[in-house]
Amino acid sequence: MHQYSGVLQVNLTAVRKNWQLLRAHYFGADCGAVVKTNAYGLGVAPIVQSLFSEGCRTFFVANYDEGVEIRRLLPNVVDVYVLQGCAPNMEQRFIESSLTPVVISVAMFNRWFRAVSGLGARGQKVRCALKVNTGMNRLGMSLGELKALSLQEENLKQAGVEMILSHLACADEPEHPLNQQQLQAFEVAVEPLKKTLPNIRASLANSAGIFLGESWQFDVARPGIALYGGAMTLSNAPNFLPVVSLFLPVLQVRELDAGESVGYGGLFRAERKMRIAIVSGGYGDGVLRSLSCSAFGWFHQKIPLLGRISMDSCVFDITDLTEPESPAEGDLIEVIGEHCLLGDVAKQAGTISYELLTRLGDRLEKHYSE
Ligand SMILES: *Cc1c(COP(=O)(O)O)cnc(C)c1O
Repeated sequence: MHQYSGVLQVNLTAVRKNWQLLRAHYFGADCGAVVKTNAYGLGVAPIVQSLFSEGCRTFFVANYDEGVEIRRLLPNVVDVYVLQGCAPNMEQRFIESSLTPVVISVAMFNRWFRAVSGLGARGQKVRCALKVNTGMNRLGMSLGELKALSLQEENLKQAGVEMILSHLACADEPEHPLNQQQLQAFEVAVEPLKKTLPNIRASLANSAGIFLGESWQFDVARPGIALYGGAMTLSNAPNFLPVVSLFLPVLQVRELDAGESVGYGGLFRAERKMRIAIVSGGYGDGVLRSLSCSAFGWFHQKIPLLGRISMDSCVFDITDLTEPESPAEGDLIEVIGEHCLLGDVAKQAGTISYELLTRLGDRLEKHYSE
């Protein structure tokens, strides 16, 4: 008997090819990779090792712990940017692990500056990035704050400022007016900073941002979801390869008589004699409960999901599958993959591929293929 709730297959060759596709469409100097949240749920170690072997040297994570993990996994030549910046009193630990904080406020800049000033002169490598808010109103200093900071040449140098970045709110909607507004605001932010620090690098584009046009690309790109096969429907985008498949093993096959119901709430009621497969894997594994009653699996053909998804299991209608096509105990039902596209499943669940991927559970057995 299997000891896992399901099998997650991650195609590392596809991740590498997706990174190359992004790089080919990108005119800037440095195509990085966003590997926060355990590389969007796929397992950070194999993902960053494969991207490193492909030539990627710039990695973005959300927080300090994730940054330390990248440092543990990869040679020191890579740059690791921590998007949520450096919490108070963490400055020394960032320096020790050679992590580059993305400084999101003037207060954070001042703390960083005080903690590190002088270290550069003593031969320590001190680096930070600045984040400016151009309209998303999530993290970042205001244009005015950045402009004032841009004049403090000595402080910027002591703090090791080497990148300026901002984040697009609507990059996946190319026609949205905010894209143009954010671009203009970013140009306004970068210009005075470039006067003070001519070598500073600018970074604006996430996956979708790369395809808005060359103007949005700047020096460093920060793609995440496109690497993991979750941006297949971006307009102007190349044919990214699917990366993830999820298979759930059949635990039991049973017959239903007309009038009998299935699962919690008895939501599905059989109108005829049916055969159903109970499979391992439920919302505890990332098979989102909002897929209840509506999703499909695949076993030689489309098979409807019946009733509510439970924590550890869900149920498929296999009435129309006849021997030898019919699944038996241990057979694997596809729920995400070649026939059940990630984007379609996300839509059915009322969410986006990002959430579906990052909710994939720890109980899944992960298989990495080259
Ligand atoms: C998550 C994130 C990205 C990656 O975005 P994708 O849409 O997955 O390409 C880039 N930049 C920042 C600041 C992020 O938080």
